[in-house]
Amino acid sequence: EAEELVSRVSGSSSSSFVPIDDKEDAIQVINEDKQFNGDLLSYVTATLLNVDKDYHIISVFGSQSTGKSTLLNRLFNTNFDVMDETQRRLQTTRGIWMAHSPLVNHTFNSKEKKEGIRNKNIFVMDVEGTDGRERGEDQDFERKAALFALATTEILIINIWETQVGLYQGANMGLLKTVFEVNLKLFGKAKSDTTSSSTSPVTKKISDHKVLLLFVIRDHLGVTPKEALAETITDDLLKMWDSLTKPSELSHFKFNDFFDIDFHTIGHKMLQPEKFEQDVKLLGDRLVNPSDTLFNPNYHHGVPVDGWALYAENCWDQIDNNKDLDLPTQQILVAQFKCEEFSKKSLDSFITKYTEYEPIGLVADDYEEIGRCLIDLKNDTLEEYDNLASLYNESIYEQKRTELSTQINAKVANLFNSHADKLRANSAEAFKKELIALKGRNFNKEGLKIRDDHRLKYLQKLSLLSIGGEISTDSNFAKLDETLSSIFITQQKAELRGVILKGLKKLSTGLTKEIQAQVGSPASTSWDDILAKFKCLTNEIISKYETDDAKGVYDFGLGTTGEENAKAIDEFKFKSWITFDEVSHKLLTKDSILALLKERFEDKFRYDANGVPRLYENTAELEVNFQDSKVYAMKVIKIFGFAKLSDETEIVPDYSIYDIKLRNTYFGINTIDDDDDEDEDNEDEGRRTCFAEVISEKDKAIILSKFKKEIDARFIETKKSIIQNVTQ
Ligand code: GDP
Ligand code: MG
Repeated sequence: EAEELVSRVSGSSSSSFVPIDDKEDAIQVINEDKQFNGDLLSYVTATLLNVDKDYHIISVFGSQSTGKSTLLNRLFNTNFDVMDETQRRLQTTRGIWMAHSPLVNHTFNSKEKKEGIRNKNIFVMDVEGTDGRERGEDQDFERKAALFALATTEILIINIWETQVGLYQGANMGLLKTVFEVNLKLFGKAKSDTTSSSTSPVTKKISDHKVLLLFVIRDHLGVTPKEALAETITDDLLKMWDSLTKPSELSHFKFNDFFDIDFHTIGHKMLQPEKFEQDVKLLGDRLVNPSDTLFNPNYHHGVPVDGWALYAENCWDQIDNNKDLDLPTQQILVAQFKCEEFSKKSLDSFITKYTEYEPIGLVADDYEEIGRCLIDLKNDTLEEYDNLASLYNESIYEQKRTELSTQINAKVANLFNSHADKLRANSAEAFKKELIALKGRNFNKEGLKIRDDHRLKYLQKLSLLSIGGEISTDSNFAKLDETLSSIFITQQKAELRGVILKGLKKLSTGLTKEIQAQVGSPASTSWDDILAKFKCLTNEIISKYETDDAKGVYDFGLGTTGEENAKAIDEFKFKSWITFDEVSHKLLTKDSILALLKERFEDKFRYDANGVPRLYENTAELEVNFQDSKVYAMKVIKIFGFAKLSDETEIVPDYSIYDIKLRNTYFGINTIDDDDDEDEDNEDEGRRTCFAEVISEKDKAIILSKFKKEIDARFIETKKSIIQNVTQ
């Protein structure tokens, strides 16, 4: 039966498969043209040793000429093609080969064990590839073959030299990375579909399925222990797993969900031939010892061997047709290399020209002109690149062109940002001036209009430098917006302060006039009139800003919030009382009252009711008039020394204006500093606590004593003149 199979395989003239000589020889599963051998199933069933169809599949993978075939032949008694040591043929026939192992070599001697071992069906696959390390070589076959081995076998032997451990390229890690990535993409989904809801034994099988990666380390000299080598390789694998591009729905999978790892070291074939043989047999022990075997039910695909052959064929179909594996061919590698080189060359010549232009562009202010220069420089650069690179692989050419464009834009950033800053500074300066020039008229409406104008102009100008919009103006524009907003808010606050100040000035002027008038003709209703004037003025000033919609709601047309407006009105009211206090104290001082007293006294004493000067002829008349004049004059201090109304109630402010803390909150810390001098003046008089007490009792006494001294002198002087007149 076996011979029949062999003749069928070898005799088929249309087939490109390499013939095999006898049943221990290998069958080519996949040939160099990537065709799957339809006769695989027949070979497999024909070579089975026993009826229970218990079988295992092992593959080997690794760089060319690392002794893979040699190992397999020694271990499994197969007859894979081995590179001739004398002729040093460069490569054996490419493809994936499979052979049934008639016997696994081992160190066991007992008869029973040998029997048990004989009954095991182990199929071995040998992957013969080129060496992908040579630059530009097509790795397509290597990738697909490795992926096939990974997908179909229970144990994948990864064959490496000890000296390759830790070397990314040497240990074929790059190839493995791609293979893992595609393996995850192709076969990971089945695993994730069954992990969540797995009660049936079949699905449980898929979700638990793993592959054993058995690293066989060749030419192990024994200096570095196996454990240390194992650690290095494990670290590399886990790192590689983390760096894989994983579909998001599979990103939670860990390396250990798919793979187990194990290690075996083998001595140098030529230098330690006996150790070499022994190590190979020890590996055999690990495969065949029923009580301690590397095989694990989880590695098995769980189907009879004919099912496996079909599965393998399907796997190959999927793998061979998978676009993800059509990775860089020679053409693409060359395109990458050349386009990169051209892009660098073009960028270099751009930098040379740009470096020359930058100082000119930085001081220039014709934005259209600068923008044109930048676009010209860039277009020249891209044109140069296009001339060199456009005939190479299109997608690589496009990709490198985009990169070049991005690099150019990044180079221009210095010029772009510098002008953006300059434009912003100019806008800010002009905006500030324009806002002040509004003098508060329609401040909010006009101010925002001016701001929008600046924003628009800024964008228009900066966009001219954006290489047709390729450089984003967003972050610079956001900065401008922030600057303008903060200027607006600052000026808005200043305007609001100005409104309050103007109101207070107006109040102060009006009050001054009223008090002066009242002082001219003191009456018991003087303070009634002054208070009424104060209230009238205050109301007049505030009501200008009261909105039509609601009483007690104010708007200054500054765009300030209702809360800010209410606060401003409150501040005005507080300060209006302070103004009242200040004006009355400025006008009604010790000296002014004293002067007033004297003036009134003189008026009455020296002139009669008709304004005719008096001539005193006797002392009796003098004494009566002196008393009258004195009482008339003193009325002033009685009325203006203490602010009370005609009904005898004293005037009390609506706010505690002498409360230092309250003053601080209304004036703010800075204003308090400005008012330092005034505070000191007030301190001279002692801190006042009573608004109504315009002249303190102490001052009153001083005024009166001075007044009395003066009028007494006047009295004596007048009396003397009467006596002289009489005696003459
Ligand atoms: P393959 O291409 O990986 O299958 O390698 P081969 O099995 O064809 O062997 C390639 C060459 O390496 C042959 O000349 C072998 O004699 C030699 N070779 C095989 N095994 C070893 C080994 O363990 N150590 C060394 N140094 N050479 C070996
Ligand atoms: Mg080989």
